[in-house]
Amino acid sequence: MRSSIDSSKRCGDCTLCCKVMEIEQLAKPAHAWCPHCRPRQGCTIYQDRHAECRDFSCLWLVNDRLDADWQPSKAKFVLTMSEDGIEVRCDPGYPDAWRRAPYQAEIREWAISGEQHDVTVIVITGRRVILITPERDFDLGELGPDDRIVRELEGTRVVDARVVKVNPPIEP
Ligand code: SF4
Ligand code: SF4
Repeated sequence: MRSSIDSSKRCGDCTLCCKVMEIEQLAKPAHAWCPHCRPRQGCTIYQDRHAECRDFSCLWLVNDRLDADWQPSKAKFVLTMSEDGIEVRCDPGYPDAWRRAPYQAEIREWAISGEQHDVTVIVITGRRVILITPERDFDLGELGPDDRIVRELEGTRVVDARVVKVNPPIEP
């Protein structure tokens, strides 16, 4: 969505965020190509794109520690930050791309480091969410907009994870 942040990183032929991200201003769901995108070429309304698109930068673009292997067009996933932590947003055509080297080991390292600082690491493919922890992965299935992840902690260690409804249906 952005052409560049600094002189060293450029989107180049990557357009993956225009597929995996939800764009509210366009009513574009996550994991579907934006109708304005020419995959691998760019945005056909680049000069007039919405603020949501202008303001977005994936982590690869802004983090100098992520080298060329992590460019979304190569990795097949887009890294983003939420208020909870790191999100690995997979191209649905490559749901297991994050498991390949060097990605999975590094993502595990983020979970190890994150556990000390209450930073979560999740992998998202479509609506399916996997919580990554230092010791195991919790495949939480498909989450809806009212679903939230609840972690059970022993100290800082995650020992279990489940999904709860934020607005549970009212019992008749
Ligand atoms: S995913 Fe990142 S590198 Fe790719 S087009 Fe979007 S902002 Fe640029
Ligand atoms: S409007 Fe352009 S920048 Fe925004 S999602 Fe669509 S193709 Fe990407």
